[in-house]
Amino acid sequence: MNKRAEILIVGAGPTGLVLALELAYRNIAFRIIDKNEGPGESSRAMLVVPKVLESYRKFKLDQAVISKGIRPEYINYYVNSEKKADIPLGIMGKGMSAYPYVVTFPQDEHEKVLLEKLEEKCHTVEWQTTFDSSEESDGKNKVSLRKNDESTDAFFAYVIGCDGASSTVRKSADIHFTGDTYEEIFYVLDAVVEGRVIHEESGSFSFTEDYFALFFPLRNKETTRIIGMFPPDLVEKEEFSFDTLKPRLEDAFNISIESKNWFSDYKIHRRTAEQFRKGNIFLAGDAAHIHSPAGGQGMNLGIGDAVNLGWKLAAVLKQGIDDTLLDTYETERKELAESIVKRTDNAFKMVASQSKMSELVRTRLVPLSAKAAGRSEWIQSQMFKVLSQLYVAYDTSPLNGDSKAEIKTGSRLPFAEGELFEFTREAGWQLHVFNAIPGRFNTDFRSVEIVKRRWTDKARAAGFEKDKVYLVRPDGYIGWTGKLESIDNLFEYMKKWVN
Ligand SMILES: Cc1cc2nc3c(=O)[nH]c(=O)nc-3n(C[C@H](O)[C@H](O)[C@H](O)COP(=O)(O)OP(=O)(O)OC[C@H]3O[C@@H](n4cnc5c(N)ncnc54)[C@H](O)[C@@H]3O)c2cc1C
Repeated sequence: MNKRAEILIVGAGPTGLVLALELAYRNIAFRIIDKNEGPGESSRAMLVVPKVLESYRKFKLDQAVISKGIRPEYINYYVNSEKKADIPLGIMGKGMSAYPYVVTFPQDEHEKVLLEKLEEKCHTVEWQTTFDSSEESDGKNKVSLRKNDESTDAFFAYVIGCDGASSTVRKSADIHFTGDTYEEIFYVLDAVVEGRVIHEESGSFSFTEDYFALFFPLRNKETTRIIGMFPPDLVEKEEFSFDTLKPRLEDAFNISIESKNWFSDYKIHRRTAEQFRKGNIFLAGDAAHIHSPAGGQGMNLGIGDAVNLGWKLAAVLKQGIDDTLLDTYETERKELAESIVKRTDNAFKMVASQSKMSELVRTRLVPLSAKAAGRSEWIQSQMFKVLSQLYVAYDTSPLNGDSKAEIKTGSRLPFAEGELFEFTREAGWQLHVFNAIPGRFNTDFRSVEIVKRRWTDKARAAGFEKDKVYLVRPDGYIGWTGKLESIDNLFEYMKKWVN
C-alpha cells in the first residue's frame, strides 16, 4: 500500500489496470483496489483494436498482446450456412497504423499481461478491498474502504471509479447513468465447435431468418467464441441454460458443439454517465458508459479513457499544470462515448429486431453490403477506421491550440508508412519537425522531446506539411500546429499546458 498516494483507482479491470500503468510510468503514487479475490477468470472482451496497441507501445506491451492473441484474417458472412462474402480483416487498415489489423485476445489473459507489467513497475493490486463511499472533507476525498469486514477511512486528492457498470463510485457521487436496458437476452459461449461457419483464422457472422450469431477463433484456435441472442420463445419461458440453447444453435447454424469452456447469459444496456468528472471524482470505462458488444468497442473505449486521463492527472500532480486540464477529460471522452453508444445502439436494433424489415436487412442487405466491402478497399478502410478507433479525434477540445495546417489540432498524429516508428507514443509531449528549429526550443522546453522527421512522400501523403511543426500530446493527439513564425503563440500554448 502506498501511503503517499494522492490517487485511488477503484477497480482492477482493464480500465483500472491501464490507468495504473499510465501513472506508474510517470512515477505518480497511487493505490489500486479491487473487491475481488484476484484477477478475472472469464474471457469476456476479446477484441483489441490498433488504437489500444498504439498506446501499449510505450509499455512494450503491444508485441505481448499480438503474439499471444490471434489476428483474424477474414470476416465471413453466412446466410443459412452458405457463405455469401468475406472481407479481409487482416490487412484492412493498411497504411493507417503500424498495426493494420485487430487482435483477439481473451480479457482474462489480457488482464494478466497488464498485471505482470504493473508488477514490473513494483505496483500491486490490493485485492479483497472494497470501496464503500466517498465524501468531500477539507478539499480531499474521504473514502471508506472495507477489507475482511473491517472499514477504514483514507484521504485522496482524486478518486477514479473504474469499477464497472454497477459502479459504487458513480452511485456514491450521485451521478446519473442515463439510458436503458434492452429486453433481449444475450449469450456468450466459448466452446470447441465444428461446422462450416467455423474457421481457425477467421471470424464469421452467421444469419438465418430467426437467428444470428458471431463466431470468432479464441485461445488456441481450437476454441470458438459464439455471441448471439436467445430465441424469443426461450426468453418467454425464462430458459437460459446452455443445455436448452445447444440443440437450437446446432440446428440453426449447422454446427456441432463438442465441449464448453464458458457460458453466460447477459442483458445489454445503453447508458452514459451524466458526468465523467464531479469535483475530484472521475469515472472511466464501464463505470462511465456501457453499450452493446456489437463491434467489440467497450473494453477498448475504457482503455482509451484511462490513457486520456492518466497523463493529465500526472501533469497536474507532478508538473503543476492548471487543474482545468482535467476538465478536458470529460469534454473529450464523454462526447466520444455518447457517439459510440448511439452507433452501437443503431447497429444492435438493426440486427436484433424481430421485424420483417430487420430480417430482410440480415439476410439480404448485410450480405450484399459485405460482398461490396469484400471487393472495395475504400469501404474496407472506412469500416476499419470505425472498428479500430483510429478515427477518434477531439475536434472541439479546449486543449486544441492554433490549427493553421492541413492536419487539424485534436486529430491523432497520422501514420506515415515506411518510416520508423518515430512517433512512438512516449510518455511525454513531442514536437515533430521536418526542418531545423531554433536552439531556443532545446533550452526553453526540456520537457518536450523534439522528433526530427524525414520529409518523405509518405509523410506528404499522410497530410504533413514540411514547413509546419506539430506539437503532440502524450496520448498521440495534436495539441498545436503551425509555422515557426508563430513561435510566440506556440510558447504561450506550451506555458499553459506543457510547462
Ligand atoms: C459476457 C461479456 C462479453 C463481453 N464481450 C466484449 C467484447 O467482445 N468486446 C468488448 O470490448 N467488450 C466486451 N465486454 C465488455 C467488457 O468486458 C467491459 O467493457 C470491460 O470489462 C470493462 O472494463 P472495466 O475495467 O471498465 O470494468 P470491469 O472489467 O467491469 O472491472 C471493474 C472492476 O471493478 C471491481 N469493483 C467493482 N465494484 C467495486 C468496489 N465497490 N470496490 C472495489 N472494486 C470494485 C470489480 O471487481 C472489477 O474487477 C463483454 C462483457 C461481458 C460481460
